[in-house]
Amino acid sequence: MPRVVNYPPVDLELGEEALALAASPGGDLAAGSCGAQTSSPGGVAGAEQARGPFDIVGGMADPTEATARPWSKRGPEGPWDAIVVGSGMGGMSAAAMLARLGRRVLVLEQHFMPGGFTHTFHRGGYAWDVGVHAIGEVTENDPSGRLLHDLTRGRLGWASLGPVYDTFRFPGDVAVDFPDREAVFRETLVALEPAERRPIESYLARVRRDALAMRNYYRARAFPASIGTLAERLMARRSLAAIGLTLDAVLDDTTRSPRLRALLSAQWGYHGATPSRASWAMHALVTRHYLDGAWYPVGGARAIGQALLSTVAAADGWTRIASPVEGIMLDRGRAIGVCLESGEELRAPVIVSAVGVSATVRRLLPDPERSAAWTREIVALPPGPAHVCLYVGFKGDISSAGASATNQWFYESWDMERAGWDFDESGPVGESSVLYCSYPSLKDPSYDPGPELRHTAEVVTFVPWRAFEPWRATRWLRRGDAYEAFKARLADRLLQHFLRRMPGLRPFVDHVELSTPLTTDYFTRAIDGSMYGLAPTPARFRTKWLRPRSPIPGLFLAGSEVGAMGVMGAMTGGMLAATAVAPRAALPYLRRLEV
Ligand SMILES: Cc1cc2nc3c(=O)[nH]c(=O)nc-3n(C[C@H](O)[C@H](O)[C@H](O)COP(=O)(O)OP(=O)(O)OC[C@H]3O[C@@H](n4cnc5c(N)ncnc54)[C@H](O)[C@@H]3O)c2cc1C
Repeated sequence: MPRVVNYPPVDLELGEEALALAASPGGDLAAGSCGAQTSSPGGVAGAEQARGPFDIVGGMADPTEATARPWSKRGPEGPWDAIVVGSGMGGMSAAAMLARLGRRVLVLEQHFMPGGFTHTFHRGGYAWDVGVHAIGEVTENDPSGRLLHDLTRGRLGWASLGPVYDTFRFPGDVAVDFPDREAVFRETLVALEPAERRPIESYLARVRRDALAMRNYYRARAFPASIGTLAERLMARRSLAAIGLTLDAVLDDTTRSPRLRALLSAQWGYHGATPSRASWAMHALVTRHYLDGAWYPVGGARAIGQALLSTVAAADGWTRIASPVEGIMLDRGRAIGVCLESGEELRAPVIVSAVGVSATVRRLLPDPERSAAWTREIVALPPGPAHVCLYVGFKGDISSAGASATNQWFYESWDMERAGWDFDESGPVGESSVLYCSYPSLKDPSYDPGPELRHTAEVVTFVPWRAFEPWRATRWLRRGDAYEAFKARLADRLLQHFLRRMPGLRPFVDHVELSTPLTTDYFTRAIDGSMYGLAPTPARFRTKWLRPRSPIPGLFLAGSEVGAMGVMGAMTGGMLAATAVAPRAALPYLRRLEV
């Protein structure tokens, strides 16, 4: 059972980010028609209420460290044992693990805040996360939980989202709770499709088996590419089989019930590929990830970076923000350092690129390497989908209007191949087939809503990058009237869709703004604004170059494109990179943690 601890509140002061953003237009959007309240959740909520929201694991040892910033624009001088490019979850995890292994590490981040998709931004007295809503496998029962606990030196607390972490609403007033117990989940599905008990049981067993088998795939990935293929054949046969199947193929094996197929694949939004395209291995990993429930970092997503980068600083390392890397320097084929866009050169015997494998080979390698066969193979892999997010600020008691720590998914169709919101920049925008809604202020026990009861929501859906491409060359906050008008149209449409589904929230809406794939491109430099990196197709996981050791000596790769989508997937990519850099120190360290 989780250990419940007292957790000091993390201050949410407006930082330099807010100053930089002061010129940004807010969004006063017109209110629209109010729909009927959707039906109350079905499923088995209440069947097993062992875990409530705000049960907490882990905790913060030193409150002063919780607010000190272990990063700055400039930093101490070298020499460095390693330079990590990119401070997303992958880069921070690689850097923190190298720090735990005694290495002095410099992390370089292009954004003016660290954290990549784990960063939190503030506006108008509200705070929102950009890429963290629900994280599984954080407890000491999970290898990933044990590793993260050590990488953060126990300074990160996790609050449970409660007995139900996701609720799905489908056409026909069907509402299904996804609970934090596999047995309850199984019985929820059986209650909806009583004739399908056997297929449901065998599907869940297959999820566990194939997700577990992926551990050997990642172990084999730690070898260099030259022997990696052989290692995979010897060590990871079962995972290779799972990788080669699509989710659709496994559903074909499982059931003919269209409704059950939709329920089993409804979480495709957590990896971004619909059943016909998704590798079964990825879907099994995501399903397994949440079988025991989901958690949220106490203090908000930014607490993750705060804790990991404190570990880096504690080992005499540092993180430099606003330090975009222009290229990786090679000498006689070996990585020897990086060149910043400012012209500054920094050297280290080890370079870990955590900006995405695809972005590394497209943007950071010098020319002859950019056209090598291995880089061309990576460039040929398609990025996953882009997204928009509506950031909503409320004043009032949103819990009384149906909001809670549970994430809500609103599907407008049972067809899981409908991949979100499809439109072009000109013409009608229609409506999205799915909305994902999260209420971060209700997930965080350290959050103080103040006398005005300030709360927040994030409403996410997938969109086509091509609709935003015409403005690709424009600059943030200076994209022109046509773009602002297009964005306002999208924001209004999305807000009306959201409020039709959650009508009780309408009177509380105080602040609304939209991020688009161009925002993602600007703040994380994701290829084509992709929210999860490379699409999780069978081809992606088969590509032998997505591994921590690049073919270039001295250059290592970290992040979700080496591991898998999601915060823990990116941490896996960071752990693999640190292990490849320092295997002799890393292996006993991981063994000690039973990872
Ligand atoms: C809307 C949304 C919701 C999500 N929800 C969840 C969730 O609930 N649970 C979950 O587990 N996952 C979620 N994810 C996914 C998860 O956040 C990501 O998969 C993960 O954080 C990616 O980490 P990363 O380190 O691989 O990449 P990133 O976070 O993209 O890190 C890459 C970093 O490199 C930096 N960089 C790029 N180029 C340069 C350069 N040239 N020089 C220096 N720095 C550079 C970027 O600025 C960035 O900080 C969500 C993602 C999104 C977009």
